[in-house]
Amino acid sequence: MSHPLDQSSFTSLYRQRSASIIHYGDLLSARSGHLDALHVTHPHTGKLLARYRWRDPSSPTFYRVGIFADIHGDEESGVVAAIQLLRELQINPDISEFYELFVYPICNPWGFDAGRREGKSGKDLNRCFWRDREESEVRLLEQELRATQFDGIISLHTDDTSEGIYGYVNGNTLTRHLLEPALRVTSSIIPRDDRSEIDTHPANDSMIFGGYQGILGAPEEQHPQPFSIVFETPHHAPLGKQVEAHLSAIREILSLFRVISSEGRDI
Ligand SMILES: [Zn+2]
Repeated sequence: MSHPLDQSSFTSLYRQRSASIIHYGDLLSARSGHLDALHVTHPHTGKLLARYRWRDPSSPTFYRVGIFADIHGDEESGVVAAIQLLRELQINPDISEFYELFVYPICNPWGFDAGRREGKSGKDLNRCFWRDREESEVRLLEQELRATQFDGIISLHTDDTSEGIYGYVNGNTLTRHLLEPALRVTSSIIPRDDRSEIDTHPANDSMIFGGYQGILGAPEEQHPQPFSIVFETPHHAPLGKQVEAHLSAIREILSLFRVISSEGRDI
């Protein structure tokens, strides 16, 4: 016999979405000596930012990369990809050789639980970085970005207006040389969006240089700036393909950055 859900049951059921993702990530972490669940709690609001750190203690760490998903709360494929990545690292740790990876699977937990793009205040959180002091989710992420000084930032997104995969290039000059091959490899899973204008911006070879102000990125004072990539999948593609595309792009970017950066090091 079934009953319609009352409002409070409905709300708590929705809340379980982020809780179940974090629960799964924590289980993976409990089983692995390389994966730590290091969630961050806001000192005043008590809000939680889910954070996982992957590090192989037997290999030296030269580079720190942050992988951020779901700053737009309704972009589910990035969340699934971020969690899948944690699992994949346990099976194939070579992906992360020389890296310390920080994975933030749900950057906008309210939006994720409510199935909404924006944050609770109604603002697009990915326009608020380093300019809006009121958004506590953004403040927590800014603290992370400032304290960790990442060598690379990968943000996972989904676009309901795009016809294929594409990306935004920000950060240092190396960024485009990481994104270009990542798009090429990943286009075997989902074709590229080849239009000359994507998401209202001029695009070249499925890449947009610059783009919006206030997006998740390193603080301006960080020198040198990290590579900074926003990778977008088309919303219309099947979820499984989108997840696969995110993972393929991450693998390719990490592999290339290690090769390019190690040329200057004797490794
Ligand atoms: Zn987005």
